[in-house]
Amino acid sequence: MASDPDCIFCKIVAGELPARKIDEDDRTISFMDINPGSHGHALVIPKEHARDLLEIAPDELAAVVHAAQRLAKRMPGALGAEGVNLINSCGSIAWQTVFHFHMHVIPRYSYDTIRLPWTPGDGGERLDQAAEALRA
Ligand code: AMP
Ligand code: ZN
Repeated sequence: MASDPDCIFCKIVAGELPARKIDEDDRTISFMDINPGSHGHALVIPKEHARDLLEIAPDELAAVVHAAQRLAKRMPGALGAEGVNLINSCGSIAWQTVFHFHMHVIPRYSYDTIRLPWTPGDGGERLDQAAEALRA
């Protein structure tokens, strides 16, 4: 299994760093985010090291998403969450700070202070340009 000796999440997988584990399967581990954005904020990681969304193998990504859904389904009953955000950051510009792929599973509450991180814009003609550029 691919591992990076300098990666803190690989160290959590190896048991070399502590983590508040809440779920595990063949391919993934889930644990509490050490600096939570809301009550119950968790992270799901693949056991195999992959840097980010562009690098992770599709079957590893699928395993992470399945685990994230498993956790999300527990959050209303276990925590009283009224909703959940799944968030992944790919690249420093997109706020990624730990370069071992992870999915944030963030329970949401009416009282929390999390806000939409973008201002909805009027795409104008650039909307068509972007669509054209992105079509495979
Ligand atoms: P990101 O900024 O999307 O790369 O997310 C990295 C997340 O990892 C942050 O929310 C950190 O609070 C969290 N984090 C960093 N180190 C640890 C750790 N040792 N245990 C748990 N969470 C961590
Ligand atoms: Zn790693």
